[in-house]
Amino acid sequence: MTEYETVYFAEVHCYWCGHDCGTVNSRSPISAPGSPIAYHPQDSQPRVVRSLGEIRCGRCQGPVFADNPDKRRVYPTFVFRQRRPRRPRVA
Ligand SMILES: [Zn+2]
Repeated sequence: MTEYETVYFAEVHCYWCGHDCGTVNSRSPISAPGSPIAYHPQDSQPRVVRSLGEIRCGRCQGPVFADNPDKRRVYPTFVFRQRRPRRPRVA
């Protein structure tokens, strides 16, 4: 049984000028109220917002909307377990 996390993902575009403002992802649906959303702007550092309403277009300060919403499974990085001690190679 493999454990995974569901992550909701969307692109963010400006309503007014269509500018591609970056991407958002969240553990709950992007439009769900009150859940933190990780916002990854195109041109600045990622930050956490509570709703898409906090995000304004970097070009015209217009409101943004989530585009191409997607639900992805994120699997933790698989770690190999070393079962046998490594032996030095004999030349
Ligand atoms: Zn804009």
